[in-house]
Amino acid sequence: MGKSLNNYLNGSFTPSIGQETLDIVNPSTLETLGQTPLGTIEDVDKAVEYAKAAFFSWSQVPAIDRVQPLFKLKMLLQDSVDEIATLIVKEHGKTFREAKGDILRGIQMVDVACGMPNLMMGESLQNIAPGIDCNTIRRSLGVFAGITPFNFPAMVPFWFWPFAVAAGNTYVLKPSERVPLTQMKIFELISKCGFPDGVINMVHGGKEVVNALLDHEDIAGISFVGSTPVAKHVYTRGSANGKRVQALGGAKNYMVMLPDAPVEQAVRAMVDSCYGCAGERCLAASVLVGVGEAYHKMKKQVLIEVAKVVVGDGLDPKTTLGPVISKEAKERIISDITTAIEQGAEILVDGREQTGEGYFVGPTVLDNIKTGTLMADKEIFGPVIGLMQVKTMDEAIDLINGSNYANTTSIFTTNGGAARDFINKVTPSMVGVNLGVPAPMAFFSFGGSKDSFFGDIKVHGASSVEFFTEKHTAMIRWYQEGSNEVVSPLWKD
Ligand code: NAD
Repeated sequence: MGKSLNNYLNGSFTPSIGQETLDIVNPSTLETLGQTPLGTIEDVDKAVEYAKAAFFSWSQVPAIDRVQPLFKLKMLLQDSVDEIATLIVKEHGKTFREAKGDILRGIQMVDVACGMPNLMMGESLQNIAPGIDCNTIRRSLGVFAGITPFNFPAMVPFWFWPFAVAAGNTYVLKPSERVPLTQMKIFELISKCGFPDGVINMVHGGKEVVNALLDHEDIAGISFVGSTPVAKHVYTRGSANGKRVQALGGAKNYMVMLPDAPVEQAVRAMVDSCYGCAGERCLAASVLVGVGEAYHKMKKQVLIEVAKVVVGDGLDPKTTLGPVISKEAKERIISDITTAIEQGAEILVDGREQTGEGYFVGPTVLDNIKTGTLMADKEIFGPVIGLMQVKTMDEAIDLINGSNYANTTSIFTTNGGAARDFINKVTPSMVGVNLGVPAPMAFFSFGGSKDSFFGDIKVHGASSVEFFTEKHTAMIRWYQEGSNEVVSPLWKD
């Protein structure tokens, strides 16, 4: 390593035209791992030209043959799980166990996309009128592009391209410029799977590459995952340019504990949710809300759980909390904690002085969070827990529904009726019952609402077929001796 990375264009690793680079830094050790080239409009033009050239013949390959390279990729990925997980730990900082989850969830996307011959079947009906049949097929659309965030270097790109490509489209991926090494390894495997040249391409870079993709007239659709301001920008600019866009944004996730919840189990799940991947997950809990007496039990147990947290390098098996991604992220989180205290939060555990060479923020617990303050409203994206007390479940639901974000929420209870009521009333579109990270798996659709999602069609599962295909309907009559005069009995005079 220690050198600028290549793009992957038309089946070959090719140097970027971009001259500027960004250092890739191990956030635990501060070692420089390499440089990401910041690609240009010309890099995007080349990638899209290859993807466009490959599209028609790929779209005509039978679906059962299009998924064969994905079966091969699944095997290669499976054999490389530990190697990929180690790369994720080095460039991202999460623990090895979390990194394995990152790649294993990605492999599940490949598994599900292999079912595309079934998933993309259409509809047909004989005799929609006498002698006329109707067939609706799902047709691929052309070149799609994906723009992904730093927090799941392996999994998030797999939310999109295996489905797009299996459905007969071609693809250009722009991974996060902060964690490109994981995708370099994955593309090394992709290059061995037998995809025709140009079907799957990768361009490294940042903002300039993103905007070039959004403006390119030969791109049919864009999938984006990242922060809310950029998601809004991608949705607005991409859709104004006539593209299909699905843009997943940030989150502020509340979890609610009722007095009848089993305290130890519930709090363990909630604390794991807050601190897993150093809080850098779009499904991470941020504010824990105790209803009535549940609040006191919850607070006591949170402090017991937090005392068990071990901060360190993700490659050390003892570590349960790795660093955050960058110096800027660390400074932003520390500043947010300070602001929360200035706004009246009480600090119970302070992670601001966490020692260590890397970008470490220690586990932090803030109590007495009030509505209208930073800790109640802003995505912190770090290992910070806010505690809040409310009198009733409905009050908790009002809090959740008052947020601009609506990604996920969970309730912890043994009362089925209360859980059902909660599911029905909350706005976030991914809801958990007694679960810290309620993530819909590859075969279900994923995505929030409000400022957490811009678009109409969610990602993976059945939604991927909706997003990556269009319905194409043919009404067909064949001329047959004597049969064309048949009239439905209902239409006779
Ligand atoms: P980010 O918005 O900084 O970057 C995401 C992508 O956008 C990157 O590929 C980056 O190169 C590009 N980008 C950044 N700034 C841009 C700009 N000004 N113009 C055009 N493109 C730009 O996000 P991040 O820090 O990499 O990821 C963390 C965010 O992603 C959090 O807000 C998190 O909640 C969100 N996220 C959401 C989901 C979800 O499912 N809703 C999943 C994972 C992450």
